[in-house]
Amino acid sequence: MKKIVIALAGNPNSGKTTLFNTLTGSRQHVGNYPGITVEKKEGFIELTDYLLHFVDLPGTYSLTAYSQEELVARNFLAQEKPDLVVDVINAGALERNLYLAVQIMELGIPLVLALNMMDEVRKKGLTINTELLSRRLKIPVVETVARQGLGKDLLIQTIIEVADSSPGSWTPLNISYGPDLDPVLQQMTKMIEQDHFLTHLYPPRWTALKYLEGDDEIRALGLKTNKRLARELELAAARIAEHCQKTLNTYPEAIVADYRYGFISSLLKDVISRDTHKERIAISDRIDKVLTHKFLGPLIMALVLYAIYKFTFSFGEIPMHWVEDLFTWMADMATRLIPPGLLQSMVVSGIIGGVGGVLSFVPLIALMFMCIAFLEDSGYMARVAYMLDRVFRIFGLHGCSVMPFIISGGIAGGCAVPGVMATRTLRSPREKLATLLTVPFMPCGAKLPIFILLVGIFFPENKATVLFLISLIAWATALIVAKLLRSTIIKGAPTPFVMELPPYRYPTLSGLLIHTWERTWQYIKKAGTVILAISILLWATMTFPRLPVEQVHKFTRHRAEIERQIQEIMAQNRESDDQNTIATIAKLKQLIAGLDAELAQKKLKYSLAGRLGTLLEPVTRWAGFDWKINISLIGGFAAKEVIISTLGTAYSLSQVQAEEPVSLADRIVQDPDWNTRRAISVILFILLYAPCLVTIVVIARETGTWRWALFSMTFNTLFAFVLATVVYQGLALLGN
Ligand code: GDP
Ligand code: MG
Repeated sequence: MKKIVIALAGNPNSGKTTLFNTLTGSRQHVGNYPGITVEKKEGFIELTDYLLHFVDLPGTYSLTAYSQEELVARNFLAQEKPDLVVDVINAGALERNLYLAVQIMELGIPLVLALNMMDEVRKKGLTINTELLSRRLKIPVVETVARQGLGKDLLIQTIIEVADSSPGSWTPLNISYGPDLDPVLQQMTKMIEQDHFLTHLYPPRWTALKYLEGDDEIRALGLKTNKRLARELELAAARIAEHCQKTLNTYPEAIVADYRYGFISSLLKDVISRDTHKERIAISDRIDKVLTHKFLGPLIMALVLYAIYKFTFSFGEIPMHWVEDLFTWMADMATRLIPPGLLQSMVVSGIIGGVGGVLSFVPLIALMFMCIAFLEDSGYMARVAYMLDRVFRIFGLHGCSVMPFIISGGIAGGCAVPGVMATRTLRSPREKLATLLTVPFMPCGAKLPIFILLVGIFFPENKATVLFLISLIAWATALIVAKLLRSTIIKGAPTPFVMELPPYRYPTLSGLLIHTWERTWQYIKKAGTVILAISILLWATMTFPRLPVEQVHKFTRHRAEIERQIQEIMAQNRESDDQNTIATIAKLKQLIAGLDAELAQKKLKYSLAGRLGTLLEPVTRWAGFDWKINISLIGGFAAKEVIISTLGTAYSLSQVQAEEPVSLADRIVQDPDWNTRRAISVILFILLYAPCLVTIVVIARETGTWRWALFSMTFNTLFAFVLATVVYQGLALLGN
């Protein structure tokens, strides 16, 4: 059995004793260093081939002779000559702690660095490149957390390796102390070597250095050993001290310390790096104590989500009106510039009406996306996912399901297309399927405009609240349907939640704007291309086939007759502003408006779309939908944005071309068929019925089969219709 004597050196409070205790456990022995009261702790580790004998040296910052502790440590090293030293270093104060290590290396004893308190270093967000440090020092460096016993085994293994490979003699490190001291040091070293002066204790250069530093203990020892040489060395030291005082206004000891610190800082170059990522993690942990707190967390989450609605609606309405006004103005201009007829109708109703209806919601949607981008970029979105895992588990889903839900519109304004794609993060195919089949229930950005429109009309006092409620209904439906699916057609065990919470960070303004712009632009592009095409196509289906000429003539004849009457009355009462006359004219004008409306209505009903919508009316009436709503819902199969533009087109075709162009909202307000009950039913149906075509295609692609795509189309539509009908009829029974 080989015995290895190991001295544990280190600064006070570096964790030496803690490390000593974890290493040696109960095999300890406490005594005193010879002749003094400084405690000497010894401990042992017995392995099959080795006996490790540890000695806990007193904590010191240096190996000078200023304090008893330093002397004890130094003398132990010089006289007992342990096989190696483990320098326990507080890694959090690496530079200061290495000062002692460098001195031990100058002594030349085999050395192992134990970088202790690595836990605190990591917590502070610092990274230490121990490998680089080890290469530079040419000695092993082991990371430890003494308090947790981490790194203990590696340390023992390293100790054995170093002891086995050390040649038995010391190899001191030579640091340059600059042009002033180096030549003197070299000269003194030579003198010491010649006389083997104290060489049984210290390396010659080390002794020379101690003379330069004015070390009392070494001087006393020197005088006892070799008076002549000691005097010579003292003289040399005094000369260089005087020289330093004169030329540099300093003393050798200070120069030595300076060069040591210089050496250390060159060692540490690029070794310590501030890991901003880790630092953020530390801060994040503190923030999360509050934000993911059991009770506070969900409360804050609900508040945050609600605040987003409030923010979006208070700030979004203003620019929304500007865009609306712009398109109304454009429609007005087109009506004036283009002669009445097919072209005017197509431009005003098909193009301006369709695209304008969609674009007027851009400011609102942009704001909404900006809030979402803020949540995502700040890292809070992941916390929302984390907190909701407990809930999702109940419904047979996974914590990761929340991302697809949120992307799809869980925070209103997403899109089911990327949402369905986001289910790829779910590893269990069953949870993935249940998630992607239920995400289309969410209020996506395309459904929002119609919700915003209807809520604005029928719940003007509680817009934000009702929209929030719509989101809640979507969530509830999605979760209930998911549970239903998971306990019937897609049964199976749940998988555990594994998701790393990213550290919080300040979202950058440019990041937010880019995010917002990208998503909003996607929406606009869709409006500009798909929607425009569909809008024109729908205008065509709502225009053709055209009403037979003789039927139109009947109307025009009747209209002309009334107009002639108005002319006549006006001619007769040219000068008079008689109340009766004005009233009569107004009545006649109203008659004309009524006729126009009737004609437009007849035209639309005669068209392809009108016929299909009318065909479905007997059934859809249960849920309160008329043929106009039916047409727009049919359009919604293609893309949900189309619902509002279709409704707009339908209404602008069937209503009077009044002097003042009116918005869709005005038309719905004027239409006596519309009431709160119907609005609720329409909102519910649009929220829950078949996903749009693109989503359906993506579902088919993600599941690898058209079966689930078709399932989602039919199931969702039937489900939505039954629910809308129940609510519509239920409200009727309640007298609404
Ligand atoms: P010594 O003066 O070098 O013997 O240091 P001690 O062993 O007495 O330890 C000083 C303090 O540091 C004690 O409170 C220890 O619990 C603590 N400590 C020791 N090692 C670690 C460590 O790895 N991480 C942390 N965080 N604290 C430590
Ligand atoms: Mg101690």
